[in-house]
Amino acid sequence: MSPRVGFIGLGAIGTPMARHIARAFDAVVWNRTAATAQRFAREHGATAAGSPAEVVVACDAVITCLPTSREVGEVLAAAGEAWRPGGLLIDATSGDPAGSRGHAAWLAERGAGFVDAPVSGGTAGAERGTLTVMLGGDEPWISRARPIVSAYAAKVEHVGPVGAGHALKAVNNALLALNVVAAGEGLAALVKLGVSAERAVDVLNASSGRSNVTEHLIPDRVLTGAWPRTFSLALLDKDVGVALAVLADTGVESGVYAAVKRALEAARAVLDPGADHVEAIKAIEARTGARIRSAMRQTG
Ligand code: NDP
Repeated sequence: MSPRVGFIGLGAIGTPMARHIARAFDAVVWNRTAATAQRFAREHGATAAGSPAEVVVACDAVITCLPTSREVGEVLAAAGEAWRPGGLLIDATSGDPAGSRGHAAWLAERGAGFVDAPVSGGTAGAERGTLTVMLGGDEPWISRARPIVSAYAAKVEHVGPVGAGHALKAVNNALLALNVVAAGEGLAALVKLGVSAERAVDVLNASSGRSNVTEHLIPDRVLTGAWPRTFSLALLDKDVGVALAVLADTGVESGVYAAVKRALEAARAVLDPGADHVEAIKAIEARTGARIRSAMRQTG
């Protein structure tokens, strides 16, 4: 029988992920702002629950997609004794490994399971159902989680015990942040030398320094002047903080990750709180005086 799946956290990426869940399973949703869950239920044939406890009682497995592991802990506690033996929490939040181990232990005391299952691929990947999912946890919970997260994924990989998925996701996002900052600063210098940003990006993308940032984010968002808000700079900064903790916990010294964290913090200080992660390049433009964005559409 197909499992009944709960989804908690209908934000920028949670909503398109939950759409795939509602297509594949009998879905029950909850969101802190209740109107969002009610609208989602109406539009996608899901049930809107009145509380996290109602979701846990109604479902075989519950997916959370919240800002940090702290909010996941709040939702876990809010559901409290609704957790029963055999229940499963699949945490799609980009959380922190230590928090995840705590959540797993809390659930294990109640006979329930925890799998960390952060995603990569952005809101566009979530819309298409082509996300990469990094699973951390133990059997039999992993085997139960895999067909559920496959509803929105093109690649599902079990990478280690509880917390390993969150650790891998944090390192991934630190690399994303590094690429945003390094490409932004490098392009600022090139523009000041008189090289057009469009031409520089075109050449980088036929050279060994290319990345997802130079191939997609800068051409689609910076050079077009579109600046969409799909993944906040605040959340990326949180992820680099998690990566720094992962390195510290494992005794790996790095000046690079700390420098990237400082660069994101400096960008946040001059941008508005809702800024997208790519807008860190706006902050680099502001402090260097270089205009990387296209001269065609000077927005923001
Ligand atoms: P958003 O800020 O768009 O959404 C956050 C969600 O969490 C909303 O549903 C919000 O509810 C809910 N929420 C916030 N605080 C609480 C709380 N205290 N209690 C209960 N619910 C709460 O974030 P995203 O959807 O962008 O990100 C979610 C997670 O996914 C993050 O960990 C992020 O790092 C990760 N991620 C995001 C990607 C992206 O492209 N956006 C890509 C990959 C991972 P409400 O509607 O009431 O505000």
